[in-house]
This record gives sequence, C-alpha cells and structure tokens, in this order.
Amino acid sequence: MPRAVRMTVCSGCIADFPHKEMYLVSRYMNRGNPDPKNMYSTMYCAKCIKKDKEHYVDIIEKPKPPKKAKPKTTKKKNEKNSKKD
Ligand SMILES: [Zn+2]
Repeated sequence: MPRAVRMTVCSGCIADFPHKEMYLVSRYMNRGNPDPKNMYSTMYCAKCIKKDKEHYVDIIEKPKPPKKAKPKTTKKKNEKNSKKD
C-alpha cells in the first residue's frame, strides 16, 4: 500500500499525525501579549487539544469524521478480467 497519508507535525507534542486527524487551532503570536489581531493558526493532535487547552485560543477546524456512507464495491476482482472492448 502506498503511503499516501499526509503527515503533519503537532505543535503541542511535535509528533507526526495523519493530517486529517489534526485540529486546526488559533494561537497568539505573543502569548505574553494576547492580541486578537496578532494570531496564527497551527495544527494540534487530538491529545494536545485536550491536554494543552491553555496553549491555544480557539479550535478553527476539527477533523472530519470518517465517511461511512461509501460502501466499497468489490471492484478488484472484476478489473483484471474486464478490459475495454
Ligand atoms: Zn500533540
């Protein structure tokens, strides 16, 4: 299987996680001087979202729940034998 999963570094624990499991959060550029006009967004893993609540200001985007409405068709077997023509 090809490694197509996009990995992203968590700003909290500096570990790699699949990008789609990450939270996008906003943080103050300067934590000593919280300025809503001087913020940036960064990625946090689910663990740090719970653990480091005081280190980010807001959750901008939560990871999307995995889609379940897409039933996988048993396509593999057919593909080999069904050439065009
Ligand atoms: Zn983390």
